[in-house]
Amino acid sequence: MDTINEKKLVTILVPAYNEHEVIPLLYERLLKLMNEQVQYDFEILFVNDGSKDNTLELIQALREKDKRINYVNLSRNYGKEVAMVAGFDYLKGDCLVIIDADLQDPPELIPEMLKYWEEGYDDVYARRKSRKGESLLKKLTSWGFYRTLQSMTNIEIQKDTGDFRLLDRRCVEAIKQLRESQRYTKGLYSWIGYNKKEILYDRDPRVAGKSKWNYRRLLNLSIDGITSFTTSPLRWAAILGIVISGIAFLYMMKVILKRLIYGADVSGYASIMVAILGLGGIQLIFLGLIGEYLGRAFYEVKGRPLYFIDRYNEEKETNRKG
Ligand code: UDP
Ligand code: MG
Repeated sequence: MDTINEKKLVTILVPAYNEHEVIPLLYERLLKLMNEQVQYDFEILFVNDGSKDNTLELIQALREKDKRINYVNLSRNYGKEVAMVAGFDYLKGDCLVIIDADLQDPPELIPEMLKYWEEGYDDVYARRKSRKGESLLKKLTSWGFYRTLQSMTNIEIQKDTGDFRLLDRRCVEAIKQLRESQRYTKGLYSWIGYNKKEILYDRDPRVAGKSKWNYRRLLNLSIDGITSFTTSPLRWAAILGIVISGIAFLYMMKVILKRLIYGADVSGYASIMVAILGLGGIQLIFLGLIGEYLGRAFYEVKGRPLYFIDRYNEEKETNRKG
């Protein structure tokens, strides 16, 4: 039924922040892929996330040569999660492959993803078998995080999976409707559901340049992940409160009975200190926890646009917002 020039358009979305060292290498690899996959049309959509090096100039130079390249230049650095939303808003493809600029996600996997997409899967995600060039601590923390998050929610979270995945247009449209500002995109992929398919790969080390992640960012993302996904920590707080109150009540009965029945002197200093400090600590923790959720509500209530665009390709945008 398809006419000859009705090829499907595949968008490759690349969020890039200070990646001038890797952009040429990335383009080379993508070019190879595009030349092999002649049955598809391709769009490479770069989102320049306020890079301070000449990433933008490199992208513009590539676009001069190759009109399959489009780019969105954000007005400042918003972070990868928001940069991806900008990409979602501007992409044209029938499907989308999100890929890191640093070639940690091998583009050679894309044909396999496309194959499953043609079979009818909506979300083909690549799961890491191994992570070369990452420290044991990073592996351990990420392992712990996934397990913790999963234990707190009914929705199945894909383990050891990043943003490297193929999404059908309808997943893209679904995620575009989720405009929350404290984004944990990996959770959103799970939340929207649809037909998922896992493929396995070995994650390569970054080819050049520096990782923007550090443990502070990772910790923040983990907290975002949990608090944007589930309110079960609040429930735990309540349950723990009930348990501790129960224990306190029993203890109180013991003290009262001891005094009334046996007339014994109750030496209380040590136990009072333990109780005050212990309960005080727990109260502070949960106060912080409530504050965390309240703070998120505060950000969402403001309802600000997620990002502002400086330009889309050659068009300069005035206050174009997403
Ligand atoms: N990135 C971005 N904005 C940021 C930080 C990172 O768009 O503020 C992009 C970055 O250019 C890369 C991807 O997100 O394409 C993953 O970043 P990185 O390789 O530093 O993270 P890691 O692979 O170490 O988790
Ligand atoms: Mg990387």
